[in-house]
Amino acid sequence: MLPLDELYQEVILDHYRNPRNQGVLEDPDLKGHGVNPLCGDDVEIWIKLDQNKIETIKSTGKGCAISQASLSMMGEALQGKTLKEGRKIAETFKKAMLEGGDLHLEEYPDLEAFEGVKKFPVRIKCAILSWNTFLDALDQKS
Ligand code: ZN
Repeated sequence: MLPLDELYQEVILDHYRNPRNQGVLEDPDLKGHGVNPLCGDDVEIWIKLDQNKIETIKSTGKGCAISQASLSMMGEALQGKTLKEGRKIAETFKKAMLEGGDLHLEEYPDLEAFEGVKKFPVRIKCAILSWNTFLDALDQKS
């Protein structure tokens, strides 16, 4: 295994063991719940908005390291972004995972950690679960 791959795996494991933005929000402006029955992943997100900006995002979840690390990183990536920026990040990440596009996002470079996951189609569902949940929450609002 390349040293770079090992480094990226560390990033995923770190987020899995120490998930960021963990918790629940009272009266959220947006919320979403997503499941990936194939793997047993389950994620919930709560978002508080300030105008069109994601002021606070909280999440809880259970499941594999990839799904939970993705959820944790998504929270960090979306915090403080506008909904439009958030949608763009989510769509770029999904496209990179599903179609093999460039996974380097200026907005949140740690997402590159999922590069190795692209080789495992079953696990791609784990990686994009929380992003799909976020996009669903956005669509329910509009
Ligand atoms: Zn999973």
